[in-house]
Amino acid sequence: MKTEKDNNSFHRICIYGGSSDTISPVYTEAAAELGHLLAREGTGIVFGGGKTGMMGAIADAMRAEGAEVIGIIPELFNTPELGHQGLTKLIVVDTMHTRKAQMAEMADAFVALPGGFGTYEELFEILTWSQIGLHTKPIGVLNVQGYYDPLLDLIEHSRQHGFVYDEHRTLLMSGKNAAELLEKLKTYRTPDGLDRWVHRKGPQAGSEH
Ligand code: AMP
Repeated sequence: MKTEKDNNSFHRICIYGGSSDTISPVYTEAAAELGHLLAREGTGIVFGGGKTGMMGAIADAMRAEGAEVIGIIPELFNTPELGHQGLTKLIVVDTMHTRKAQMAEMADAFVALPGGFGTYEELFEILTWSQIGLHTKPIGVLNVQGYYDPLLDLIEHSRQHGFVYDEHRTLLMSGKNAAELLEKLKTYRTPDGLDRWVHRKGPQAGSEH
């Protein structure tokens, strides 16, 4: 198996994903599939440090192959039931905000696996940071069995009504499986005109839609 870092792969991806254990194995298997693919490419992950649900599934798959898995967990969640103790490194921080900022800092791309409120919040925060120019790293959702279709439809609805600019819509990619998503993330190019939102250059929101 190839484990050296390939030039066309990311150094480390930030993973967001559901903590729930009441989910179909279809989802945890998809998380593990992404984990195996990343491990084979020599890519590490940074994530919330949980051992349950989607987080536990990807972390376990990658650790089984000896890949780098870094967890960043707030003190509050670092309990025997929640915190993953088998990681390359588990960094305990004071707050959720510190956790998210460190995860963003340490990664060169972001992937949201299927998840709930916590995952949505993390995904939309990092998407918003891209929109306002705080970073230019690729962001995608793993759309396992169409899990994210309603969210993608909502974003399209927002675009059609002028609340999301066309160029901002392209900041979020999606792939129905790990290989497809990784390929999209690797070929991502920051769209032109992103600063229109900040500087209000060109047509105002709504006039071109
Ligand atoms: P949710 O999608 O609501 O299950 O929230 C999952 C996301 O929120 C993950 O990406 C984590 O970063 C964070 N999170 C929520 N619950 C936990 C937990 N028990 N342990 C670690 N991280 C968690």
